[in-house]
Amino acid sequence: MAMAQLSDRMRALVQPHLATIEPYDPNFTLTRINLSANENTYPMPAPAREAVAAALAATPLNRYPDPMSGELRCELAAWHGVAPEQVCVGNGGDELLYNFLLAFGGTGRTLVTCPPDFSEYAFFASLTQTDVVRVWRDAETMHVDAAALLEAARQASMVILTSPNNPTGDVLERDLVEQVCAACPGLVMIDEAYGEFADADTTVEPLLARYDNLVVLHTLSKAFGEAGIRCGYVLAAPDVIEVFAAIRQIYSVNVLTQAAAVAAVRTRAAFEPVIETIRAERQHMARALSAIPGVRVWPSQGNFLLVRVAEASRVRERLRDEHSILVRDFSYAPGLADCLRITVGTPEENNEVLRALEQLIAHSPSGREMQ
Ligand SMILES: *Cc1c(COP(=O)(O)O)cnc(C)c1O
Repeated sequence: MAMAQLSDRMRALVQPHLATIEPYDPNFTLTRINLSANENTYPMPAPAREAVAAALAATPLNRYPDPMSGELRCELAAWHGVAPEQVCVGNGGDELLYNFLLAFGGTGRTLVTCPPDFSEYAFFASLTQTDVVRVWRDAETMHVDAAALLEAARQASMVILTSPNNPTGDVLERDLVEQVCAACPGLVMIDEAYGEFADADTTVEPLLARYDNLVVLHTLSKAFGEAGIRCGYVLAAPDVIEVFAAIRQIYSVNVLTQAAAVAAVRTRAAFEPVIETIRAERQHMARALSAIPGVRVWPSQGNFLLVRVAEASRVRERLRDEHSILVRDFSYAPGLADCLRITVGTPEENNEVLRALEQLIAHSPSGREMQ
Protein backbone atom coordinates (compact mmCIF):
# COMPACT_ATOMS: atom_id res chain seq x y z
CA MET A 1 0.00 0.00 0.00
CA ALA A 2 1.55 3.34 -1.06
CA MET A 3 1.79 5.89 1.73
CA ALA A 4 -0.46 8.80 0.93
CA GLN A 5 1.07 12.25 1.15
CA LEU A 6 0.14 15.90 0.81
CA SER A 7 0.41 17.64 -2.54
CA ASP A 8 3.73 19.43 -3.20
CA ARG A 9 1.91 22.75 -2.95
CA MET A 10 0.47 21.91 0.46
CA ARG A 11 3.76 20.54 1.73
CA ALA A 12 5.25 23.95 1.06
CA LEU A 13 2.39 25.83 2.71
CA VAL A 14 1.59 23.90 5.90
CA GLN A 15 3.67 24.39 9.04
CA PRO A 16 6.98 22.55 8.61
CA HIS A 17 6.23 19.95 11.27
CA LEU A 18 3.05 19.00 9.40
CA ALA A 19 4.70 18.52 6.00
CA THR A 20 5.01 14.75 6.37
CA ILE A 21 1.51 14.24 7.71
CA GLU A 22 -0.63 11.76 5.79
CA PRO A 23 -3.98 12.92 4.43
CA TYR A 24 -6.74 11.29 6.47
CA ASP A 25 -7.87 7.94 5.14
CA PRO A 26 -11.29 7.30 6.63
CA ASN A 27 -10.99 3.61 5.66
CA PHE A 28 -14.75 3.52 5.94
CA THR A 29 -16.16 0.37 4.41
CA LEU A 30 -19.82 -0.42 4.77
CA THR A 31 -20.09 -3.97 6.00
CA ARG A 32 -22.89 -6.12 7.34
CA ILE A 33 -21.12 -6.49 10.67
CA ASN A 34 -18.79 -3.74 11.85
CA LEU A 35 -16.64 -4.76 14.82
CA SER A 36 -13.74 -2.46 13.99
CA ALA A 37 -14.20 0.60 16.22
CA ASN A 38 -15.13 -0.76 19.68
CA GLU A 39 -18.59 0.74 19.45
CA ASN A 40 -21.45 -0.67 21.47
CA THR A 41 -23.44 -2.59 18.84
CA TYR A 42 -26.41 -3.35 21.10
CA PRO A 43 -29.71 -1.47 20.77
CA MET A 44 -29.88 1.36 23.30
CA PRO A 45 -31.90 0.21 26.35
CA ALA A 46 -35.51 1.41 26.11
CA PRO A 47 -35.48 3.78 29.14
CA ALA A 48 -32.37 5.49 27.80
CA ARG A 49 -33.63 5.63 24.23
CA GLU A 50 -36.91 7.18 25.35
CA ALA A 51 -35.21 9.69 27.64
CA VAL A 52 -32.77 10.71 24.89
CA ALA A 53 -35.56 11.07 22.31
CA ALA A 54 -37.62 13.24 24.65
CA ALA A 55 -34.60 15.39 25.56
CA LEU A 56 -33.66 15.94 21.93
CA ALA A 57 -37.25 16.83 20.98
CA ALA A 58 -37.39 19.40 23.79
CA THR A 59 -34.11 21.14 22.91
CA PRO A 60 -34.36 24.50 21.11
CA LEU A 61 -31.75 24.90 18.37
CA ASN A 62 -31.69 28.68 18.07
CA ARG A 63 -29.51 29.37 21.11
CA TYR A 64 -25.81 28.76 21.54
CA PRO A 65 -24.94 25.90 23.87
CA ASP A 66 -24.00 26.39 27.51
CA PRO A 67 -20.19 26.54 27.06
CA MET A 68 -19.37 24.40 30.11
CA SER A 69 -22.37 22.03 29.77
CA GLY A 70 -23.52 23.03 33.26
CA GLU A 71 -26.36 20.54 33.69
CA LEU A 72 -24.33 17.64 32.33
CA ARG A 73 -21.34 18.68 34.39
CA CYS A 74 -23.42 18.50 37.58
CA GLU A 75 -24.82 15.07 36.65
CA LEU A 76 -21.33 13.74 35.94
CA ALA A 77 -19.92 15.23 39.15
CA ALA A 78 -22.68 13.67 41.26
CA TRP A 79 -22.19 10.30 39.57
CA HIS A 80 -18.43 10.26 40.13
CA GLY A 81 -18.51 11.84 43.57
CA VAL A 82 -16.50 14.94 42.68
CA ALA A 83 -17.29 18.66 42.56
CA PRO A 84 -18.63 20.16 39.30
CA GLU A 85 -15.43 22.26 39.23
CA GLN A 86 -13.56 19.00 38.75
CA VAL A 87 -15.31 18.15 35.47
CA CYS A 88 -14.79 19.37 31.90
CA VAL A 89 -16.92 18.04 29.05
CA GLY A 90 -15.59 17.76 25.50
CA ASN A 91 -16.65 16.93 21.96
CA GLY A 92 -15.62 13.30 22.45
CA GLY A 93 -12.67 12.13 24.50
CA ASP A 94 -10.54 12.89 21.46
CA GLU A 95 -11.08 16.64 21.80
CA LEU A 96 -9.99 16.49 25.42
CA LEU A 97 -6.89 14.47 24.53
CA TYR A 98 -5.98 17.03 21.90
CA ASN A 99 -6.60 19.91 24.31
CA PHE A 100 -4.51 18.15 26.96
CA LEU A 101 -1.54 18.05 24.58
CA LEU A 102 -2.24 21.59 23.39
CA ALA A 103 -2.22 22.97 26.92
CA PHE A 104 0.50 20.95 28.59
CA GLY A 105 2.63 19.65 25.71
CA GLY A 106 4.51 21.55 23.02
CA THR A 107 8.10 22.09 21.96
CA GLY A 108 10.59 20.97 24.59
CA ARG A 109 7.96 19.04 26.55
CA THR A 110 7.81 15.28 26.82
CA LEU A 111 4.86 12.93 26.85
CA VAL A 112 5.41 9.42 28.21
CA THR A 113 3.21 6.67 26.75
CA CYS A 114 3.26 2.86 26.91
CA PRO A 115 2.65 1.56 23.39
CA PRO A 116 1.10 -0.38 21.83
CA ASP A 117 -1.69 1.97 22.90
CA PHE A 118 -4.25 4.39 21.42
CA SER A 119 -2.63 5.90 18.32
CA GLU A 120 -4.26 9.31 18.90
CA TYR A 121 -1.80 10.09 21.72
CA ALA A 122 1.20 10.08 19.40
CA PHE A 123 -0.81 11.81 16.68
CA PHE A 124 -1.84 14.72 18.92
CA ALA A 125 1.73 14.88 20.25
CA SER A 126 2.99 15.29 16.70
CA LEU A 127 0.42 18.02 15.95
CA THR A 128 1.52 19.94 19.03
CA GLN A 129 5.26 19.21 18.55
CA THR A 130 5.46 17.37 21.84
CA ASP A 131 8.29 14.82 22.18
CA VAL A 132 7.10 11.31 22.92
CA VAL A 133 9.05 8.97 25.20
CA ARG A 134 7.81 5.45 24.51
CA VAL A 135 8.05 2.88 27.29
CA TRP A 136 7.26 -0.26 25.32
CA ARG A 137 5.11 -2.99 26.78
CA ASP A 138 6.41 -6.54 27.11
CA ALA A 139 6.20 -8.08 23.63
CA GLU A 140 4.67 -11.28 24.98
CA THR A 141 2.39 -10.35 27.88
CA MET A 142 1.71 -6.78 26.64
CA HIS A 143 2.09 -5.62 30.25
CA VAL A 144 3.54 -2.25 31.18
CA ASP A 145 7.20 -2.20 32.26
CA ALA A 146 6.61 -0.62 35.68
CA ALA A 147 10.25 0.19 36.51
CA ALA A 148 10.93 1.80 33.14
CA LEU A 149 7.66 3.71 33.31
CA LEU A 150 8.47 5.16 36.73
CA GLU A 151 11.94 6.11 35.58
CA ALA A 152 10.52 7.92 32.52
CA ALA A 153 7.73 9.56 34.55
CA ARG A 154 10.30 11.33 36.74
CA GLN A 155 11.42 13.40 33.75
CA ALA A 156 8.05 13.80 32.03
CA SER A 157 5.89 16.87 31.44
CA MET A 158 2.96 14.52 31.03
CA VAL A 159 2.09 10.82 31.05
CA ILE A 160 -0.87 9.15 29.34
CA LEU A 161 -1.78 5.59 30.29
CA THR A 162 -4.83 3.63 29.22
CA SER A 163 -6.81 1.33 31.48
CA PRO A 164 -8.16 -0.95 30.11
CA ASN A 165 -5.63 -0.38 27.36
CA ASN A 166 -6.66 -0.16 23.72
CA PRO A 167 -5.76 -2.47 21.97
CA THR A 168 -4.11 -4.84 24.50
CA GLY A 169 -7.05 -5.01 26.95
CA ASP A 170 -5.17 -5.02 30.27
CA VAL A 171 -5.90 -2.79 33.27
CA LEU A 172 -3.30 -0.93 35.32
CA GLU A 173 -2.74 -1.66 38.99
CA ARG A 174 -3.94 1.31 41.02
CA ASP A 175 -0.72 1.11 43.07
CA LEU A 176 1.36 1.65 39.95
CA VAL A 177 -0.72 4.65 38.91
CA GLU A 178 -0.26 6.06 42.38
CA GLN A 179 3.51 5.67 42.08
CA VAL A 180 3.47 7.34 38.66
CA CYS A 181 1.47 10.28 40.06
CA ALA A 182 3.94 10.61 42.91
CA ALA A 183 6.96 10.39 40.58
CA CYS A 184 5.81 12.67 37.77
CA PRO A 185 6.38 16.43 38.12
CA GLY A 186 3.76 16.99 35.40
CA LEU A 187 0.23 15.71 34.78
CA VAL A 188 -0.76 12.05 34.57
CA MET A 189 -3.79 11.20 32.47
CA ILE A 190 -5.43 7.81 32.86
CA ASP A 191 -7.68 7.11 29.89
CA GLU A 192 -10.58 5.01 31.18
CA ALA A 193 -12.57 5.03 27.92
CA TYR A 194 -13.33 1.33 28.54
CA GLY A 195 -13.50 1.50 32.34
CA GLU A 196 -17.14 0.41 32.53
CA PHE A 197 -16.26 -2.98 31.02
CA ALA A 198 -13.53 -3.71 33.56
CA ASP A 199 -13.86 -5.57 36.86
CA ALA A 200 -15.34 -3.62 39.78
CA ASP A 201 -13.03 -1.26 41.65
CA THR A 202 -10.34 -1.06 39.00
CA THR A 203 -10.85 2.68 38.33
CA VAL A 204 -8.14 5.03 39.57
CA GLU A 205 -10.72 7.68 40.53
CA PRO A 206 -10.18 7.22 44.28
CA LEU A 207 -6.69 8.69 43.71
CA LEU A 208 -8.17 12.03 42.57
CA ALA A 209 -8.64 13.04 46.20
CA ARG A 210 -4.90 12.59 46.88
CA TYR A 211 -3.09 13.49 43.65
CA ASP A 212 -3.75 16.89 42.13
CA ASN A 213 -1.76 15.96 39.02
CA LEU A 214 -4.12 13.11 38.08
CA VAL A 215 -6.56 13.50 35.16
CA VAL A 216 -9.10 10.75 34.41
CA LEU A 217 -10.63 10.59 30.93
CA HIS A 218 -14.05 9.08 30.17
CA THR A 219 -16.32 8.86 27.17
CA LEU A 220 -19.96 8.05 26.39
CA SER A 221 -18.81 6.47 23.11
CA LYS A 222 -18.15 2.96 24.33
CA ALA A 223 -20.20 1.44 27.17
CA PHE A 224 -23.00 3.98 26.72
CA GLY A 225 -23.33 3.44 23.00
CA GLU A 226 -23.25 7.10 22.02
CA ALA A 227 -20.17 7.30 19.78
CA GLY A 228 -22.26 9.32 17.34
CA ILE A 229 -23.06 12.21 19.69
CA ARG A 230 -19.37 12.91 20.52
CA CYS A 231 -19.21 13.35 24.28
CA GLY A 232 -16.29 12.76 26.61
CA TYR A 233 -15.19 14.29 29.90
CA VAL A 234 -12.21 14.63 32.20
CA LEU A 235 -12.07 14.60 35.99
CA ALA A 236 -9.20 16.46 37.66
CA ALA A 237 -8.29 19.10 40.23
CA PRO A 238 -10.17 22.41 39.76
CA ASP A 239 -7.09 24.32 38.58
CA VAL A 240 -6.40 21.68 35.93
CA ILE A 241 -10.02 21.91 34.79
CA GLU A 242 -9.66 25.71 34.57
CA VAL A 243 -7.00 25.16 31.91
CA PHE A 244 -9.16 22.73 29.95
CA ALA A 245 -12.01 25.26 30.20
CA ALA A 246 -9.87 28.21 29.16
CA ILE A 247 -8.41 26.73 25.99
CA ARG A 248 -11.42 24.87 24.61
CA GLN A 249 -13.41 26.03 21.62
CA ILE A 250 -16.24 27.55 23.51
CA TYR A 251 -19.21 25.92 21.71
CA SER A 252 -17.63 22.57 20.83
CA VAL A 253 -20.25 20.56 22.74
CA ASN A 254 -23.52 21.28 20.95
CA VAL A 255 -27.00 21.49 22.50
CA LEU A 256 -28.15 18.12 21.15
CA THR A 257 -25.07 16.38 22.52
CA GLN A 258 -25.56 17.98 25.92
CA ALA A 259 -29.25 17.01 26.00
CA ALA A 260 -28.64 13.41 24.88
CA ALA A 261 -25.73 13.01 27.29
CA VAL A 262 -27.71 14.25 30.30
CA ALA A 263 -30.50 11.79 29.44
CA ALA A 264 -28.06 8.89 28.99
CA VAL A 265 -26.24 9.64 32.25
CA ARG A 266 -29.53 9.87 34.19
CA THR A 267 -30.64 6.51 32.81
CA ARG A 268 -27.22 4.88 33.12
CA ALA A 269 -28.53 2.03 35.27
CA ALA A 270 -30.37 0.75 32.19
CA PHE A 271 -27.02 0.08 30.50
CA GLU A 272 -25.84 -2.32 33.19
CA PRO A 273 -27.40 -5.46 31.68
CA VAL A 274 -25.88 -4.59 28.30
CA ILE A 275 -22.45 -4.16 29.88
CA GLU A 276 -22.86 -7.49 31.73
CA THR A 277 -23.78 -9.23 28.48
CA ILE A 278 -20.75 -7.76 26.71
CA ARG A 279 -18.50 -8.96 29.55
CA ALA A 280 -19.97 -12.47 29.33
CA GLU A 281 -19.66 -12.47 25.53
CA ARG A 282 -16.05 -11.35 25.88
CA GLN A 283 -15.30 -14.46 27.97
CA HIS A 284 -17.14 -16.67 25.55
CA MET A 285 -15.30 -15.17 22.56
CA ALA A 286 -11.90 -15.33 24.26
CA ARG A 287 -12.37 -19.03 24.95
CA ALA A 288 -13.77 -19.88 21.55
CA LEU A 289 -11.10 -17.92 19.68
CA SER A 290 -8.27 -19.50 21.71
CA ALA A 291 -9.65 -22.89 20.76
CA ILE A 292 -8.97 -22.20 17.07
CA PRO A 293 -5.55 -23.68 16.28
CA GLY A 294 -2.90 -21.00 15.75
CA VAL A 295 -4.92 -18.16 17.31
CA ARG A 296 -3.55 -16.33 20.31
CA VAL A 297 -5.89 -14.18 22.43
CA TRP A 298 -4.81 -11.75 25.12
CA PRO A 299 -6.99 -11.43 28.24
CA SER A 300 -9.13 -8.29 27.97
CA GLN A 301 -11.07 -6.04 30.32
CA GLY A 302 -12.46 -3.95 27.45
CA ASN A 303 -15.21 -4.62 24.89
CA PHE A 304 -12.65 -5.97 22.43
CA LEU A 305 -10.09 -8.73 22.06
CA LEU A 306 -6.59 -8.56 20.66
CA VAL A 307 -5.79 -11.70 18.71
CA ARG A 308 -2.73 -12.86 16.82
CA VAL A 309 -3.18 -15.05 13.78
CA ALA A 310 -0.88 -15.92 10.87
CA GLU A 311 -1.40 -13.63 7.86
CA ALA A 312 -3.59 -11.30 9.90
CA SER A 313 -4.00 -8.71 7.12
CA ARG A 314 -5.16 -11.38 4.74
CA VAL A 315 -7.57 -12.79 7.32
CA ARG A 316 -9.02 -9.34 7.89
CA GLU A 317 -9.44 -8.80 4.13
CA ARG A 318 -11.17 -12.11 3.67
CA LEU A 319 -13.46 -11.44 6.63
CA ARG A 320 -14.42 -8.18 4.94
CA ASP A 321 -14.69 -9.38 1.34
CA GLU A 322 -16.10 -12.86 1.80
CA HIS A 323 -18.15 -12.40 4.99
CA SER A 324 -18.83 -8.65 5.12
CA ILE A 325 -17.36 -8.50 8.63
CA LEU A 326 -15.05 -5.63 9.53
CA VAL A 327 -12.40 -5.90 12.25
CA ARG A 328 -9.33 -3.73 12.87
CA ASP A 329 -5.96 -4.74 11.47
CA PHE A 330 -3.03 -3.73 13.70
CA SER A 331 -0.38 -5.80 11.96
CA TYR A 332 1.33 -2.66 10.60
CA ALA A 333 1.75 -1.26 14.14
CA PRO A 334 5.05 -1.74 15.99
CA GLY A 335 4.73 -4.54 18.54
CA LEU A 336 1.52 -5.86 17.02
CA ALA A 337 2.70 -8.04 14.15
CA ASP A 338 -0.15 -10.22 12.88
CA CYS A 339 -2.60 -8.75 15.37
CA LEU A 340 -6.28 -8.00 14.82
CA ARG A 341 -8.61 -6.26 17.25
CA ILE A 342 -12.12 -7.59 17.32
CA THR A 343 -14.87 -5.66 19.09
CA VAL A 344 -17.20 -7.80 21.19
CA GLY A 345 -20.60 -7.45 19.53
CA THR A 346 -23.99 -9.02 20.06
CA PRO A 347 -24.14 -12.83 20.45
CA GLU A 348 -25.31 -13.11 16.82
CA GLU A 349 -22.45 -10.96 15.53
CA ASN A 350 -19.90 -12.80 17.65
CA ASN A 351 -21.06 -16.19 16.44
CA GLU A 352 -20.76 -15.04 12.85
CA VAL A 353 -17.19 -13.87 13.47
CA LEU A 354 -16.33 -17.19 15.09
CA ARG A 355 -17.84 -19.23 12.29
CA ALA A 356 -16.09 -17.14 9.64
CA LEU A 357 -12.71 -17.29 11.39
CA GLU A 358 -12.98 -21.01 12.03
CA GLN A 359 -13.72 -21.53 8.36
CA LEU A 360 -10.94 -19.22 7.10
CA ILE A 361 -8.30 -20.64 9.41
CA ALA A 362 -9.31 -24.31 9.25
CA HIS A 363 -8.92 -24.14 5.48
CA SER A 364 -5.39 -22.86 5.73
CA PRO A 365 -3.72 -24.68 8.63
CA SER A 366 -0.39 -22.86 8.49
CA GLY A 367 -1.60 -19.68 6.86
CA ARG A 368 0.38 -20.55 3.75
CA GLU A 369 -2.64 -21.31 1.62
CA MET A 370 -3.92 -17.81 2.20
CA GLN A 371 -1.64 -16.33 -0.44
C1 LIG B 1 -12.58 5.48 21.98
C2 LIG B 1 -11.47 5.98 22.80
C3 LIG B 1 -11.42 7.27 23.33
C4 LIG B 1 -12.41 8.37 23.14
O1 LIG B 1 -13.28 8.25 22.12
P1 LIG B 1 -14.31 9.43 21.81
O2 LIG B 1 -15.27 8.77 20.91
O3 LIG B 1 -13.53 10.53 21.14
O4 LIG B 1 -14.90 9.88 23.10
C5 LIG B 1 -10.37 7.61 24.14
N1 LIG B 1 -9.40 6.74 24.42
C6 LIG B 1 -9.40 5.50 23.93
C7 LIG B 1 -8.30 4.59 24.32
C8 LIG B 1 -10.41 5.07 23.09
O5 LIG B 1 -10.36 3.85 22.59
